[in-house]
Amino acid sequence: MHTFDALAGGWDATCGASGDPQVLRLSAFRRVRRLPGPAAPPAHLVTYRCACGDEHGALMSSAELDWLPVAATFGAHYDLMTGRMGRDPDAGPGLWARSMQRGHWPVTLRCEHHAGPVPAWPSCLRALEPDEEGAARWYLVHYVCPLCERRGSEVMRREALELVPRAA
Ligand SMILES: [Zn+2]
Ligand SMILES: [Zn+2]
Repeated sequence: MHTFDALAGGWDATCGASGDPQVLRLSAFRRVRRLPGPAAPPAHLVTYRCACGDEHGALMSSAELDWLPVAATFGAHYDLMTGRMGRDPDAGPGLWARSMQRGHWPVTLRCEHHAGPVPAWPSCLRALEPDEEGAARWYLVHYVCPLCERRGSEVMRREALELVPRAA
């Protein structure tokens, strides 16, 4: 199981070489492969670029990959002192709801077969190619469009691959 740290903006992962804990951000993803088979919900093998410089694999369910980044924002509003949800228990998903209403989904794609931006999830991504490994500003992103299921590619800024809700 991978948990999602809403403040760090990534999943927890472990370096496959040193065993050190890592924050796995979406921008470190290099390939996402949906595992074959009738498994429902489907599982995904995420190959990511680790801080150690190597690539490792992480097995993630659809819920971990797509839902945790939205749902875990709850955690950031959990009151450690009282052990209860903060005053505004809807603040986490509320942030995402407002962000999505403004067109900022966890991932927003531009598929040539639709007039507007396509709301999407991390599991729609297939491969990320940074302009420069280690100092990436742009990525060539390959995806499967969730609306028409066609494959496509687009250039995205690094900021477009941050899993933080944007209110404005
Ligand atoms: Zn590593
Ligand atoms: Zn499409």
